[in-house]
Amino acid sequence: MRKHKAETGVSYAAQFRAPEHYAQLAALPKDPARIAERKQEGWQRRRAQKLALPTEKFQHEDVYERDGWICGLCSEPVDRELGYPDPLSKSLDHIIPLSRGGHHVWDNVQLAHLACNNKKQARIAEEASWTGSPPTSASEDPPSGTP
Ligand SMILES: [Zn+2]
Repeated sequence: MRKHKAETGVSYAAQFRAPEHYAQLAALPKDPARIAERKQEGWQRRRAQKLALPTEKFQHEDVYERDGWICGLCSEPVDRELGYPDPLSKSLDHIIPLSRGGHHVWDNVQLAHLACNNKKQARIAEEASWTGSPPTSASEDPPSGTP
């Protein structure tokens, strides 16, 4: 059912990227969890920017350290070793959701389990009877094969 998306993606990108650029990319260590995390960070910032909200640049890790690796939603500890897309892995929660006028700023974010965060998002979406598709792209990323 799925078409070979990767194939067309590569040929498309190849038109714009010099071979040496590829060599550089290939030299970088590939960590699926980290890539997924970076994607998330980028997505959240882009979304905030799209809504013309004030944004702050900060490292998610700094927020997690600030919160002492305790989930802000269920008050249980978060295992820093777990990575996306593990339900108990760390994620960044907007205390006041962006969709409710919250901002992507230091004071409006907290550490939350991915599952807790998703549950909250689902509840908010339901309350607002929001009909858009959920903001996840997890299906694109293969689960990390770390033991
Ligand atoms: Zn939690």
